[in-house]
Amino acid sequence: MKKTPENTGRVVGKTALITGGASGIGEAIVRMMCAQGASVFITDIDDARGEQLARDTGARYCHHDVTKESDWAQVMATIGAAGPLHILVNNAGIGFLNGFADPEHTSLAEWREMLRINGEGVFLGCRHGIEAMKAHGGAIVNMSSIAALTPVPQLAPYGFSKAGVAQYTRSVASYCLQSGYRIRCNSVHPGLVQTRLLDGLFSTLSPQVGAPPEALREAFLSRIPMREFGTADDVAHAVLYLSSDEARYLTGTRLVVDGGIELTHGS
Ligand code: NAD
Repeated sequence: MKKTPENTGRVVGKTALITGGASGIGEAIVRMMCAQGASVFITDIDDARGEQLARDTGARYCHHDVTKESDWAQVMATIGAAGPLHILVNNAGIGFLNGFADPEHTSLAEWREMLRINGEGVFLGCRHGIEAMKAHGGAIVNMSSIAALTPVPQLAPYGFSKAGVAQYTRSVASYCLQSGYRIRCNSVHPGLVQTRLLDGLFSTLSPQVGAPPEALREAFLSRIPMREFGTADDVAHAVLYLSSDEARYLTGTRLVVDGGIELTHGS
């Protein structure tokens, strides 16, 4: 593969699995990993987008609901038949269900659904990832959020789920060290990133707060010290670094990609 300033071949020869890879941040990770020489498996529940992205990039696509153990087993068997897995990015997740979900008005059903997708997906991913990589080593990157590090009262179940992802990442990192597995595990914490998830949040909240989506966008923007939303590529660069051998000495870390939000709003 020809190296350029943008394409330094940082993951040449590696096989990577990106969950929720069909859109947004996951799509950016898929495109970057492919451009940097990895052999990429995209998994998602959105088959149309996943298959299109696979055609665009030369990656392979598998249908995969991260909350289903049987889907994990099937995906890992497919990858295992092709060769060893080196990189797992547990990116699939949701940001909200019905809009605002504060501690007083969230239903038990909403709470459970948030933890099912954001929590169980990462739990199953780490378990299957360890099994697939323990013989030869590898890197797991879990997608958390700035909401794990700063309170967002209107997205309380989301914050709980992503704080769980961050802490679970440290448990996995520590367990792998104790077990003698050469598997690094780190979390990435995006701030407000321009994707379908963010657009969906503004349009869902709009009728609830009686403000147009554009006004909400401005209100959120005013909380970012850098005064701009992050891009999916901003996050993908961080994931690429943690996945590559350049990060060989990092495990159990939290990489925050938030335009300075934590500096001004963090605890
Ligand atoms: P997105 O909605 O564009 O992409 C999420 C992808 O995950 C979609 O392709 C969706 O089909 C897939 N998905 C959802 N449930 C799934 C399931 N059960 N199994 C498999 N795939 C599933 O959102 P995004 O903004 O790219 O978010 C990606 C990750 O980044 C999420 O974990 C999200 O919580 C996190 N995050 C996003 C932001 C942001 O501002 N966009 C901020 C912090 C963290």
